[in-house]
Amino acid sequence: MMRVAVVGSGPSGCYTAQSLVQLHPSVHVDVLDRLPCPYGLVRYGVAPDHEKIKSLQNTLRTVLEHERVRFLGGVPVGAGGVSAARLLELYHAVVYCVGAATDRRLGVPGEELPGSWSATEFVSWYSAHPDAVADGFVRDVRAAVVIGVGNVAVDVARMLARGVTELSPTDMPQAALLTLAASRVTEVHMVGRRGPSQARFTTKELRELGGLPDAHVIVDPAELGLDPDFLDPSGLPAAQRRNVEVMRGWARTPDADTARRIHLRFFLRPVELLARDGRVGAVRFERTVPDGHGGVTGTGRFEDVEAQLVLRSVGYRGIPLEGLPFDAGRGTVPHLAGRVLREGVVAPGEYVAGWIKRGPTGVIGTNRPCAKETVASLLADAGAVAREVERADPLEVLRAEGVAPVEWPGWRAIERAEAALGASLGRPTVKLPDWDALMAAARGDTD
Ligand code: NAP
Repeated sequence: MMRVAVVGSGPSGCYTAQSLVQLHPSVHVDVLDRLPCPYGLVRYGVAPDHEKIKSLQNTLRTVLEHERVRFLGGVPVGAGGVSAARLLELYHAVVYCVGAATDRRLGVPGEELPGSWSATEFVSWYSAHPDAVADGFVRDVRAAVVIGVGNVAVDVARMLARGVTELSPTDMPQAALLTLAASRVTEVHMVGRRGPSQARFTTKELRELGGLPDAHVIVDPAELGLDPDFLDPSGLPAAQRRNVEVMRGWARTPDADTARRIHLRFFLRPVELLARDGRVGAVRFERTVPDGHGGVTGTGRFEDVEAQLVLRSVGYRGIPLEGLPFDAGRGTVPHLAGRVLREGVVAPGEYVAGWIKRGPTGVIGTNRPCAKETVASLLADAGAVAREVERADPLEVLRAEGVAPVEWPGWRAIERAEAALGASLGRPTVKLPDWDALMAAARGDTD
């Protein structure tokens, strides 16, 4: 029998567990997560109004319910939790699938002003992450600036532009729903530093912005036309060409009378967040022009865009896990086909998959081949050299050492509590937003 610990129960962790049990007849997998709830960014990152992507949880559930897989929630690994070294004593192999837990910084003055948040903080709040800051993101906000033109930027812009009728059927927490329902945000500016043909969002997500019931997208044809590939998209890859077609359509569409407007802007590089009355009041951008090599250069001309809320959506970033090597430049763990490298040498028994392996890019499905590659390495290594580990069941050992994991029945109890909360509010399932409520539900204290 081989025992493997997978650290992290998001898509990469679940796909890793799935590949392991599919490819090895006697492997037993424990999927550890510091949260009592599984599914990582599928639960805490995918926007609540993307029900179809959220339903992927049903596929991941079948993995965690496999007879040779155990979910052990509420188990932190690294600083303050079970050490990487201890896991190696308990398991033949450990696969770290811990994602990219923080956001990239802009590095401009004013970034820390009240009213300036990372998109991930906003996403965590409306997704009921138990570590989210409960704060008035949209209080007294009329205009918001979203910096960046990736899919996360599209998500947060869309959430700001949706009305309460559209959000009620989702599983978002009640407090966030009520706050967004009372929002007075009418202008959302989503701003890219390069051109429309270089935006990172995908066409399906972009198109969705144009289909919102009480919001419409405004683009400036002259600004879009600064991009030579917008004027002649024939040389672009298909995905970018489709984006350009969508924006060309919007450039031809007359303005509509809707409650909210999404201004899609390009060739504006953020240089400073400006304060007004002790909080953010505007973003100063420098206008850029294409440099002919896919980048941009500054023009020395500036534009201030008024905003009482700034969401910095410029990508995620991996953070070091105590006991594991880390490449600070890339924000990833150095690896060779998924094998952790310590000072360039393969560390026996330690592996990575997902964003901590390859950086925060790609859609959920990208994690599947990534996990397969890591599992292929792991199984090849296990076939060659068997590592000696303690014989006792790691769950019993962890319990004896004072760790009290939330096991699958505990998670199912959280699910039931969330369904009951939804029913009491006349909504479908509504997520529990804080640690106390989650842990009480997991213990069965809520009836
Ligand atoms: P992303 O796709 O990497 O986009 C980051 C954006 O920030 C880019 O527009 C980038 O511009 C911009 N940016 C970076 N540094 C900047 C700076 N200093 N100043 C101004 N702009 C800056 O990241 P993401 O949106 O966080 O998404 C992460 C991954 O999750 C992506 O693979 C995404 O597709 C995926 N995701 C998918 C979905 C979905 O499928 N529905 C939803 C959410 C996320 P440059 O291009 O100029 O660098």
